[in-house]
Amino acid sequence: MSENSMSENSMADKSTTGKVVKSDAEWKAELTPEQYQITRKAGTERAFTGKYNDCKDSGTYHCVCCGEPLFSSDNKYDSGSGWPSFYQPVSDEAVAEHSDRSFFMRRTEVVCSRCDAHLGHVFPDGPAPTGLRYCMNSASLDLKKNDES
Ligand SMILES: [Zn+2]
Repeated sequence: MSENSMSENSMADKSTTGKVVKSDAEWKAELTPEQYQITRKAGTERAFTGKYNDCKDSGTYHCVCCGEPLFSSDNKYDSGSGWPSFYQPVSDEAVAEHSDRSFFMRRTEVVCSRCDAHLGHVFPDGPAPTGLRYCMNSASLDLKKNDES
């Protein structure tokens, strides 16, 4: 279990924990406007517009912000939702989950555990073995194909 304990002194140097902490202005300078809007402002790309929705290439999907490996193509499946969907992350530590009550809906937000980038949401209607659907934004992810490494 890895509950995100953000209650510690936020001025503390996070480098020892591997955390990536940057200011809003820094992220804005590094990311495309779409990536910034989604990962730092919890935006959502329109269904069926993301570059990884239909992607079946094998490899590992990394955080577009900090490069942390988050999802494997082995765990990707076609949910028909219009967003890249996975039934589990590469590890429990890779992502953190937050309860999200915006728009009066109970959803669970999924963020990168290393830099807190908004990735998407997780829903309890996925396939076996987990029964979970990690519904991700393509703009939050960067696929490193297996044959390129
Ligand atoms: Zn990240």
